[in-house]
Amino acid sequence: MCAKKALINIDYTNDFVAADGRLTCGEPGRLIEENIVALTKSFLEDGEYVVFAIDCHHENDPYHPETSLFPPHNIEGTSGRALYGKLQALFEKYRGSDKVHAIDKTRYSAFCGTDLELRLRERGISELHLCGVCTDICVLHTAVDAYNKGFRLVIHENAVASFNARGHAWALDHFKHSLGAEVR
Ligand code: ZN
Repeated sequence: MCAKKALINIDYTNDFVAADGRLTCGEPGRLIEENIVALTKSFLEDGEYVVFAIDCHHENDPYHPETSLFPPHNIEGTSGRALYGKLQALFEKYRGSDKVHAIDKTRYSAFCGTDLELRLRERGISELHLCGVCTDICVLHTAVDAYNKGFRLVIHENAVASFNARGHAWALDHFKHSLGAEVR
């Protein structure tokens, strides 16, 4: 029997990917555009559930731990939160479909403080496919939470990226050898 699956598309926004993004992961992020679009499209065309988990912050939030760690990014209501490149148009095309859901996340993990787990459980989904940025930050933290909650993981190697080549390679190894993920 085939497991029910969902794609979790993480933080592929202008601020994290564009050359002038406020916390850009640079060239590696832009190089995966075609792959992330093709992967997302294949899930959408197959009628699979696709979640866009998108960082959402308020400028200079004194209570947020990232305020002291990073420059302001993905500020609510700014174009920095729009999806990068062709992914935005694809999202617009399917927006409103019950197969597509956008989540405002405020921490690295897409599970932290969101209803993601409930949505996946309601739909009987047991296999999560991850793509987006950064491999060693938000993708990693989402993967760790998914592992702890018992989801099977598939990480799409050509559709994740990081500004940190060493962190990217380390995370791919961690997905495989510590989280039991399939890296494809
Ligand atoms: Zn953030």
